[in-house]
Amino acid sequence: MNPLLKDIVELKKVGPKSKIALNELGVYRVCDLLHYYPREYESVERITPIDELVPNKDVYIKGHIASSVNTLRINGKIMVQCFLEDESGRIKLVFFNQPYIKNALHQGDEVIIKGKYIIKNNRSMMGNPKIIKEEEYEKLQKIQLKPIYPLSRSVKLKQLTGYVEQSLEIMKYEINDYLPEEVRSDLELASLSYAYEKIHYPINNKNLEIARRRLAFDEFFLFNIAMRRIKEQVRRSDNEFFMNKHRKVNHFISQLPFKLTKAQERALDDMFIDFTSNHTMTRLVQGDVGSGKTVLATIGLLNVALHGFQGAFMAPTEVLAKQHFHGLSEQLKPYGVNVELLLGSTTKKNKERIYEELTLGSIDIIIGTHALIQEKVIFSNLALVITDEQHRFGVMQRETLVNKGRYPHTLVMSATPIPRTLALIIYGDLDISVVDEMPAGRKTIETYLVNSSYRERLYNFITKEVEAGHNVYVVCPMVEDGEDDTGLLSVESHYETLVSVLPGNIRVAKLHGRMKGKDKTDIVEKFLTYDFQVLVSTTVIEVGVNAPNATLMIIENADRFGLAQLHQLRGRVGRSDVQSYCVLVSDTKNSETKKKLKFLKEHEDGFALAEYDLKTRGPGDAFGTNQHGLPFFKLADLYNDMELLESASELARSYIIDEQLEKQLDMFYYQLNTDVGL
Ligand code: ADP
Ligand code: MG
Repeated sequence: MNPLLKDIVELKKVGPKSKIALNELGVYRVCDLLHYYPREYESVERITPIDELVPNKDVYIKGHIASSVNTLRINGKIMVQCFLEDESGRIKLVFFNQPYIKNALHQGDEVIIKGKYIIKNNRSMMGNPKIIKEEEYEKLQKIQLKPIYPLSRSVKLKQLTGYVEQSLEIMKYEINDYLPEEVRSDLELASLSYAYEKIHYPINNKNLEIARRRLAFDEFFLFNIAMRRIKEQVRRSDNEFFMNKHRKVNHFISQLPFKLTKAQERALDDMFIDFTSNHTMTRLVQGDVGSGKTVLATIGLLNVALHGFQGAFMAPTEVLAKQHFHGLSEQLKPYGVNVELLLGSTTKKNKERIYEELTLGSIDIIIGTHALIQEKVIFSNLALVITDEQHRFGVMQRETLVNKGRYPHTLVMSATPIPRTLALIIYGDLDISVVDEMPAGRKTIETYLVNSSYRERLYNFITKEVEAGHNVYVVCPMVEDGEDDTGLLSVESHYETLVSVLPGNIRVAKLHGRMKGKDKTDIVEKFLTYDFQVLVSTTVIEVGVNAPNATLMIIENADRFGLAQLHQLRGRVGRSDVQSYCVLVSDTKNSETKKKLKFLKEHEDGFALAEYDLKTRGPGDAFGTNQHGLPFFKLADLYNDMELLESASELARSYIIDEQLEKQLDMFYYQLNTDVGL
């Protein structure tokens, strides 16, 4: 076994107790220590020439004793004094009550001292400087930047540093750089062992950056290689569900109440080419909120059913699954397609019936949450799996499906507009269709940014919209009022307020994650049928809910939400050709936050928002990248390292995997799996 993949108990000074403490920091194996990068680096003082000294600051001086070392006795106290000289000047050293110094220092000795320079009675001197040992000085020379690690109460810096050092020792024996010298010099990359060493113990900022650059490259490169492997695995599988575009599909498209956009047509073409190719489809459809992705899924599923195969449509929430179920069963009824809904809350009896019918093949299309693939569902001939709003990193999910034996076509639909380069790494194992066009006739959603003093006026705005026959959303950041006064509005209390201030004929409902699944879907349904006109909710409505009649979205404490979330929330309105509005309510004083909200007010294009987010917030929390499962990009900066990302992808394209790279990949896979929480 690769020693770097061994349990940390194999290291010196790791007992059962420290093992637990390290586990709490996410360190389980030796390579975790290698990848436990410093949070920051503290710079160590440099040697200061004597003529550059400033009073009252601790400094290191290196020089030789330039006079005899004398002992004086003043008021019964012993004082040793001498002069220290370097190339730039001379300073007096005075040691109080340390008679032994007399024997420790001699004229001509080379020494390093640490102390404060003071001016007393117009004379400059250094009182009680510390004499630094030779070894200590050597170490100081080597390290100018001291690593500071994230620690815990039971793991102290010194301990952790010791463990990291051991992992570095093992690394030196175990790692032969998989990148050949020529490639490295071509790309101006340091060697792997240099990089690991210097990321923990940099000498200066320059070699810290050199180290970071190499390791960032590896993050991109290995991720890319891993993605390619998955893709190849799927690619190798022949298309077992060959399907032409059924003529009834054309009929379906022609009877839609709207004309498909060019972008929708392109995505459909991609899908039908895949259906008739030699290989299984693995495709991502990426399109901003409201770009009309659902109809693409509907068409794909209809084609599958018309060929006598089965299709599955998975949504992240029960509310959304139910919405899709209603839409699809209605639209596909005329084509004799049997659509069923399977949720966690489905009764046991119904579940059993559905399982049986799926196995027999009498259900054509099954719609549900992700539980669909987790439960032991056996299909008769599953040909297409569609995942809606797949925010989560889905490598493993896709693999589960693929491992079920026969390979269905897969389509992943995402509304998170991420820059294309980023999409390429996150979804590197998928082909991509971009739906970059909004349906015709859509009006810009007018967005306002106001503070809470406007709230009264908002009640009138709500009333006006409802009187015009429209629905209104009000989003609050909390479910109920907390113990301490955070100043945040909660669904519970704001619901009470709205019920009391709005005219009696306006019906208000509330919705949040703590409600039961069935209650939630009931509320959404009644909102869609206009039994309720105003919906006060948390961000549960963020994904996918489609109420074309909704024209006003009010977001309370808007500063509490991320840009991606705000964009998704705003996307709940403006889903028809009626003018829609979004009001962001915020009292924030933070100028960055204000800027962010202003940017949202002025931009509607999800890609522009994603770029902005990536630039201002960094990859860690930018535009849903965490939900995409990107935490393992520890050193790579998804925005600033684009050039590195490109060369890594380029190299990965044709790279031949050898033993050394295999070893590195093993570590990477291990890390990937822990980070995604598998
Ligand atoms: P999303 O991409 O966010 O999932 P939906 O599929 O929910 O968007 O579509 C939003 C709304 O736009 C729906 O009411 C849908 O019927 C409508 N729609 C979809 N395509 C078109 C089109 N080409 N022209 C007009 N309206 C469309
Ligand atoms: Mg959708």
